[in-house]
Amino acid sequence: MTAAGQRPTASAKVDRRKSRRTAHEPHAIARAAGAGTGIGPALVLAPGREKSSRLRHPWIFSGAVERVLGEPSSGDTVTVVAADGTFLARAAYSPLSQIRARVWSFDPHAMIDAAFFNRTVAHAAAARMAMLDAGHTACRILHGESDGLPGVIADRYGDVAVLQCLSAGAERWRDAIASALVTTMGVRCVYERSDADVRSLEGLPARTGPVLGTLPQDGATIVEDGIAYGVDVARGQKTGFYLDQRENRRIVRGHASGRRVLNAFCYTGGFSLAALAGGAASVLSVDSSADALSMARANLARNPSLDATRAQWQEADVFAELRRLRDAGAKFDMIVMDPPKFAPTAAHAERAARAYKDINLLAFKLLTDGGLLATFSCSGGITAELFQKIVAGAALDANVDAQIVARLSASADHPVALNFPEGDYLKGLLLRKA
Ligand code: SAH
Repeated sequence: MTAAGQRPTASAKVDRRKSRRTAHEPHAIARAAGAGTGIGPALVLAPGREKSSRLRHPWIFSGAVERVLGEPSSGDTVTVVAADGTFLARAAYSPLSQIRARVWSFDPHAMIDAAFFNRTVAHAAAARMAMLDAGHTACRILHGESDGLPGVIADRYGDVAVLQCLSAGAERWRDAIASALVTTMGVRCVYERSDADVRSLEGLPARTGPVLGTLPQDGATIVEDGIAYGVDVARGQKTGFYLDQRENRRIVRGHASGRRVLNAFCYTGGFSLAALAGGAASVLSVDSSADALSMARANLARNPSLDATRAQWQEADVFAELRRLRDAGAKFDMIVMDPPKFAPTAAHAERAARAYKDINLLAFKLLTDGGLLATFSCSGGITAELFQKIVAGAALDANVDAQIVARLSASADHPVALNFPEGDYLKGLLLRKA
């Protein structure tokens, strides 16, 4: 929706407001977007509200927008200009969201079209290709804002790419992104899992199903560090598998030898199988989802080299199960604690902090001296610093001394762009009980 004439141009609108605005403003806006063509729909920011755009942060909050020029629809590309008319960015408009626009490009010459998505997807994919070899057939290809594609997530599971469109702009360009995934990655199927809760904040309904190609009959299967897993692309959590923990599973595997391991919140058994591969003496895995546990059992069966007699699976609420184990006097030499997101935003931080403290306190009590605790938070509302404080409080209350052996984060295929610190959602600590 960019052609002048179809919609009131920014210049025309601004002209009508000349009395309120400085006379040079329309020219500045036109210059910002290519003089003579009209700029199409635009967001004019309030004075002083352009700071975060100048730092190249990709979100434009509703409170920063003073005026909307033209009549952009949800997902349309808009030009974002400062109060003085200076060009700031080309962004996707989202009229219902508090994040009113998400930036596609800070380049005034960028055309937001299918070729733009082809280039951006190819760029992100090229950075991931080195991670795919016989030992690994899965990785995140598109990591949203950090790959310059706000609201776009894509994970590759062998021949299948799973796409999540979480913003109005992602929704608008879904087909272009899906075909770019096929072109650049050579996958046979792009399956959509746009069913995350955050879509409702953008006024978008949930949608799932194949976008291009069809899912293989036997579903998606992957190999991670030589271990085979089935991935339930259609019904599993998120896009089907927690690829962000790949490097942390390897760390756990490296420390597992001879240890009695407890894997709390095990999902489809990622850390459990990694611990078995690392020579764990036993692995007790706990999750509240019967479906996840049945996939976990099936995953173990896919790997005959792993000793299945050392694995136990328990369907239970982790909060209750940790207490039961404590009361039964159980002890473990290594505990992995990877709960779901307790605090999606900072507003939930306080309640989440209590939950994190509770499970970590119980974990410290279940650990033997010298035992290892790999503990995680994937809550955007809990910073790494706060998480460390919560875990320190848990150790104190458990009357335990512990050291940080390593600070953990999401795998390298989940990069964090420096201009988007919000992308740093997964934090973990590998701790040794004294
Ligand atoms: N570590 C896993 C991913 C964990 S995702 C991996 O590497 O694949 C979080 C898991 O916690 C989900 O499987 C979910 O079913 C489970 N879960 C959520 N709340 C729970 C609770 N109260 N008790 C037990 N499991 C829970």
